[in-house]
Amino acid sequence: MVEISLVPIPYRIVALTREQHNLFEYPPERLAEVIREVGFFCTCCGKCCTRAFNGHVFLLDRDAAVIRALDPAAIEPAPDPEFCDQNGTFYVSGYALRSQGDPAGSCWFLENGSCRIYRQRPSICRIYPSMLHREPDEEGIVDWRQVSGLNEHGEYHHDIPPEECTELARETKEYENAVLSQELSFLELIGNYFAEHGLRHVQKVYDDRMRRFRKGEPVKVMVFSAGTLVPHTWMK
Ligand code: SF4
Ligand code: SF4
Repeated sequence: MVEISLVPIPYRIVALTREQHNLFEYPPERLAEVIREVGFFCTCCGKCCTRAFNGHVFLLDRDAAVIRALDPAAIEPAPDPEFCDQNGTFYVSGYALRSQGDPAGSCWFLENGSCRIYRQRPSICRIYPSMLHREPDEEGIVDWRQVSGLNEHGEYHHDIPPEECTELARETKEYENAVLSQELSFLELIGNYFAEHGLRHVQKVYDDRMRRFRKGEPVKVMVFSAGTLVPHTWMK
């Protein structure tokens, strides 16, 4: 399989635009029906608020603004930057919530198993475990996935009122569309920025800097935020 960072930007824009079109075509009633059939019930175990279970919490621009106002120390450049130029600067499409640095990688806002900012939690935390994007399964067959970590957490087959299913389906679709829009805007900006500044993605430099970063060396990363690139010095 081709490394995604090696796919030229225009091809990635076309592929993401196609994904956005597929998402647009997906009937919200179908997602609401899946939500109703699955009947997911959160047991408040707090597992999804750890990197051990769920990777990082990616922030849409609107989420990053809220979190920054609450606690500027809680955000950091999202891991796995998409690009690294020939000079060793990384580029990433947004921010993520910082972890507390404990072995489980607990979210910055997780306290005694509860969310300290529940009413203002980011978009992904509001819809989780609902999702709506296409992914390959173990056999490489690409299809829609609507529930994250199915049968690995929570309880199932609870009754969820129809209006709640409809609202969650609407929010989930809106969130997935916002993620694709942010990534598309980022790719368009990077394409122009690299052309204007004579920059190019170099995978060898990417791998080398990432190795050094993992050993504790600071690196420079430009984070896409509100339509521009914000420079950061990023340390593990
Ligand atoms: S913001 Fe709250 S809900 Fe979201 S991952 Fe952190 S602790 Fe969990
Ligand atoms: S959504 Fe799942 S993992 Fe997260 S607290 Fe609820 S049951 Fe636990």
